[in-house]
Amino acid sequence: MQRRTFCASAAAALGIAAWPFPRAYAAVSTIADDADDVEAVTGDGRQVLLHAADVEDFRAGLRGALLKQGATGYDDARRIYNGMFDRRPALIARCAGAADVLRSVQFARAHGLLVAVRGGGHSLSGQSVCDGGLMIDLSPMRFVRVDPGRRLAYVGGGALLGDIDRETLPFGLVTTTGTVSHTGAGGLTLGGGFGRVARRYGLTCDQLTSVDVVTADGRLVEASSEQNADLFWGLRGGGGNFGIATSFAYRLHPWDGWAVGGRLVFPLEQARDVLRGFDELYERAADGLWIEPVLSTAPGGARILMLDICYCDAPEGAEAALAPYRRLGRPVGDTVARVPYVQLQTQDDERARIGGRYYTKSGFVSRLDDDLIDAMLETIASAPVPMARIAMPPKGGAIEGVARDATAFWHRKSLYSVLLGTSNDDPADDAANVGWARSQWPTLEAFTEGFYANTNLSEIAGDRVRDAYGGNYDRLLALKRTYDPDNLFRLNANVDPRA
Ligand code: FAD
Repeated sequence: MQRRTFCASAAAALGIAAWPFPRAYAAVSTIADDADDVEAVTGDGRQVLLHAADVEDFRAGLRGALLKQGATGYDDARRIYNGMFDRRPALIARCAGAADVLRSVQFARAHGLLVAVRGGGHSLSGQSVCDGGLMIDLSPMRFVRVDPGRRLAYVGGGALLGDIDRETLPFGLVTTTGTVSHTGAGGLTLGGGFGRVARRYGLTCDQLTSVDVVTADGRLVEASSEQNADLFWGLRGGGGNFGIATSFAYRLHPWDGWAVGGRLVFPLEQARDVLRGFDELYERAADGLWIEPVLSTAPGGARILMLDICYCDAPEGAEAALAPYRRLGRPVGDTVARVPYVQLQTQDDERARIGGRYYTKSGFVSRLDDDLIDAMLETIASAPVPMARIAMPPKGGAIEGVARDATAFWHRKSLYSVLLGTSNDDPADDAANVGWARSQWPTLEAFTEGFYANTNLSEIAGDRVRDAYGGNYDRLLALKRTYDPDNLFRLNANVDPRA
């Protein structure tokens, strides 16, 4: 059978709509460098050969570029945030819109290819790029359209968090995003999403009113509480398991664009008392007060405790709300002031530099109890490297006001995450840093219950991945078997349909 005939019949067998290849679009696509066949890898790890004619048909049908190894732009496109991953997909489809995503899924299905989906490229696990498969790259899809009257933002599947803030804030509107502006909205939203205003408004996934999704069987569907409600449930916390989100609609909330925020810095000697006092105080804190404690190494080898603050209730209440936290110790640094909210949202962008080499372990905890505090202090004191952190991003407030089974995000009741992370630039430091984090983590992990799907690592065994979904796992498994029985979307905190 001719290769092209096989493709068409395989597509028909899968129920994928026959599609005329619009060669007219070829003029705006990046031309592949040569007409050779392409070696690729399937989802189950087999080597296959993609015939040049099929690849050319695929390319001609795309509005965006199709890149293969050696093509101009290929190396930039395969690069993601975490410099630990230097992977080479057989093909990268730089999708310009939902039709390109649909086309890419159909091509991957027809050839059984391993698929990696790239939104903002910030997966700590590196799973948005793969060796030998098809990387479906949404990064050209960064549109944000605000409807101020209906208080909604329509956001492309490859948009970054800063795109959302920068487009919504000028309209006096905000939604929940994360704390580093170059993180992708796609991955963050599908896994849950928490940040500075989450205690007030809920998780990022709680803001969704609908999502346009390309499913594994090659259809573009809308998921909302009215349409495909089962899928909508799974997309809010179930990660990238169920399809590729081409567009999200988020609820927006009135916001004047300002907040009271910044950092209180304490030397390590005060950290035990400050964290103990903090744990007591913060349990009763107002929903508008977000404080993330961070134990960190500092230049020169010192260790410090930072309280990273964003107060978003009426500014006249800030002084009284923050005074008890200032009194927990004698801060050696205090940058807390009334500032544009976007200033807080970008203050970590440089530290979390793109291309650094990162390794992170994480889990949820309900309290910062005394034993956990002691364990964290010992851990940070033992860090052999210039850049190590234990961050404790908070939840609570509106996040826990939503029932655990109302969306796929289960771990709403834990007040904190504990994230142990290292970063370095020189690959020669990887072994020491990763080795140290791995050796320390079991002590901290003993205090945790489950972990955030968005901090999943490939090294976490499949049966442990279910801890990320807690009591929602069985329902997610049933949904996966309905929407992706062949596990096309497997490079994520995977709900394996064969489990
Ligand atoms: P990508 O690497 O592009 O994608 C990760 C996975 O998400 C992919 O493998 C795919 O399965 C899926 N995916 C992405 N986009 C889509 C899409 N459109 N459709 C279907 N699947 C998709 N999390 C928080 O909640 N709050 C924070 O404040 C926060 N801060 C962070 C700061 C940094 C510096 C980093 C590195 C991470 C942070 N995270 C935070 C974690 C973050 O939620 C995850 O790293 C998330 O995966 C990033 O999404 P992305 O689109 O950039 O990732």
